[in-house]
Amino acid sequence: MSKTDIKSLNMQELEQRMLELGEKKFRAKQLYEWMHVRLARSFDEMTNLSKEFREKCRETYDYTALNAVQVQESALDGTKKFLFELADGNVVESVWMKYKFGNSVCISSQVGCRMGCRFCASTLDGLERCLLPSEMLDQIYEITRLTGERVSNVVVMGTGEPMDNYDNLLKFIELLTDKNGLNISQRSLTVSTCGIVPRMQQLADEKLQITLALSLHATTDEKRRKLMPIANQYSIRELMETCQYYFDKTGRRITFEYSLVGGVNDTGEDAQQLVALAKPLNCHVNLIPVNPIEERDYVESGKKEVQEFKNKLEKNKIHVTIRREMGRDIDGACGQLRRRHKKG
Ligand code: SAH
Repeated sequence: MSKTDIKSLNMQELEQRMLELGEKKFRAKQLYEWMHVRLARSFDEMTNLSKEFREKCRETYDYTALNAVQVQESALDGTKKFLFELADGNVVESVWMKYKFGNSVCISSQVGCRMGCRFCASTLDGLERCLLPSEMLDQIYEITRLTGERVSNVVVMGTGEPMDNYDNLLKFIELLTDKNGLNISQRSLTVSTCGIVPRMQQLADEKLQITLALSLHATTDEKRRKLMPIANQYSIRELMETCQYYFDKTGRRITFEYSLVGGVNDTGEDAQQLVALAKPLNCHVNLIPVNPIEERDYVESGKKEVQEFKNKLEKNKIHVTIRREMGRDIDGACGQLRRRHKKG
């Protein structure tokens, strides 16, 4: 049987474990600080703890740490893309983006994905496994160590469907936003989902202050089913009701992500239908020109179409932004780096 993953324990759980080990409660605080503030990569780094105690910890617990196997830096905008190796040899990707308001990190929540969205490279080989809370944290911790800069925003928009790893996601949020840890505010965290309705409802009931982003990408069920298999399970109507529920429970504005695919979902009619969906909700629309992957023949919408689409939404008083395309020169699309690495 594998050992307990120490970095996924909250302070209370850690204190309980220390007492069970016959140690004093304050050991938990010391360990917690080493793991979540000083970002130690192993028990060995915890130099103010006795050798005996560290040895005891090593015998009792698993300690996760990532190894950067590849780092790419964009010559265009300084975006950095990291390929990290996990303890079992699997790799995940994370992205570091510098904005005016601070540094943002995009993390993966699973190794691979089983959602099957047609335009996405992360799902081509299916789901390998879910990430532990510690492995989600590690992506942020390792990037903080490697860049030497504080991370101010986190988006769970890398490989994987966070709602398909719900319990670990919640634990990750608890640890990331803990005042004894990195203390990143809930408002600085965005979780993106392809739209798993029961989990979105559950998340609403947690009454967190995080931003929920829904990958909508189409305005009719028929069109959405062609792009996203999950649309066979939940209708757009159910999704909109759930978004309203999330807003009612949390007071947080929803983000709709809408990847524009040339000739597929970027017409004037699509824009009009999106207005109809967005209007009744307190939401923000983020347009993403689709990032073409070689395994599929989707193309991005032209500059003119993107602008027209945006104008139509704005004319109807919908908050809209076009996602700044960062790191296009470094395999920017979800899952492309990992795939290339695996093939290589
Ligand atoms: N599974 C979650 C989060 C990961 S994907 C979700 O579906 O939301 C993050 C966002 O990138 C989603 O909106 C996804 O649909 C979008 N995306 C994936 N591949 C893309 C591509 N090649 N071009 C543009 N957007 C893409």
